[in-house]
Amino acid sequence: MSTTQADELAWTLPVYAQLALEPVGGAGAWLELADGRRILDLYGGHAVAALGYGHPRLVAALQDQVKRLTFQSNLLPLALRARASEALARFAPPGLDRVFLVNSGAEANENALKLAFRAPGRNRVVAVEGAFHGRTAAAAAVTWGSEKWYGFPQKPFEVSFVSPRDVGALRHKVGEDTAAVILEPVQGVAGAVDLPAEFLAAAREVTRAAGALLIFDEVQCGMGRTGRPFAADYYGITPDILTTAKGLAGGFPAGAVITTAEIAAGLKIGELGTTFGGGPMACAAIETVIGVIHDEQLLDNIRTVSQQVRETCRVGPVQSIQGAGFLLGLVCSRPAKEIQAELLEHGILAGTSADPAVLRLLPPLTLEPEHVAMLAAALTEIAP
Ligand code: PLP
Repeated sequence: MSTTQADELAWTLPVYAQLALEPVGGAGAWLELADGRRILDLYGGHAVAALGYGHPRLVAALQDQVKRLTFQSNLLPLALRARASEALARFAPPGLDRVFLVNSGAEANENALKLAFRAPGRNRVVAVEGAFHGRTAAAAAVTWGSEKWYGFPQKPFEVSFVSPRDVGALRHKVGEDTAAVILEPVQGVAGAVDLPAEFLAAAREVTRAAGALLIFDEVQCGMGRTGRPFAADYYGITPDILTTAKGLAGGFPAGAVITTAEIAAGLKIGELGTTFGGGPMACAAIETVIGVIHDEQLLDNIRTVSQQVRETCRVGPVQSIQGAGFLLGLVCSRPAKEIQAELLEHGILAGTSADPAVLRLLPPLTLEPEHVAMLAAALTEIAP
């Protein structure tokens, strides 16, 4: 354990398994460490560093905003909040054009589920095996293996889990008492598992038929990561509610619930609320991240560079590659933790996942072909 790790542990709760790397700075896709080394970051701070580190436009937007107005709550209207919300609604699939800004992925999912439970007589949610939706009460209740994640004496509502390979079970479970089906179109924590298109199509069809809402949790797979604005666009299926966070503000804490004008129209003052959500710093960052994705044509970059990963990185211990865009799972012949440690010796940081065989890549959306060439070269030198 490094001195910094020990210092941190002396004052914080012992809930994280940390790697022995201490970043003190970052530039693009590179992390600068306290010991002077540079590490290529293919984990992107858990999919948060959408523009990499120190992107000049994000730095300038935050510097400018911190001087103008660091915070104001939703009691007062802000032109910047209006602009950021419009940019996000326009980035989202057509029909999803009302935004509620919050602070994290779990908070976005709590609020999405609250919207679903407004329907009288609907008190059950259908979720998907393998899913991760966050650690707060409602988000944890719809997370697979929630006995482990939940941590409260009882669940706040009834949840049925279905396998993403069992469309029949999905059809069977969704009925008149179902408030919502919630799913990650590409499951992140599970190991970059892209759900079968026919499962998503069936989820859209059965929720519509039963009068339940379809919620896409795009906290990890959204904001361009699939090479389309959202995974909803990647699959060509529009949910009733879409949640996003992580890369949304490029590192500034922010989350969002995006929904239809119809659902928004039924809401009364005070039904939802948050102190920090929609604050000016987060809004400046959101507006900038979306602007940079457009101006630097990052969606094209993701599709091209992701294809390069698929074509060149099935070498050494990597047997197959799953996922989409820049949410990729390298399925390994040996435990992913071993490969992660060996890649670090080559100066490359990758993530692990709930699947012990899957190494997860969540790099900045600005990742370049030369970075993938470094990964492929390192993997070639690692024993199968
Ligand atoms: N939903 C998904 C798909 C996630 O991957 C995560 C975090 O990993 C969350 C929700 C929870 O987000 P947060 O940690 O910002 O609350």
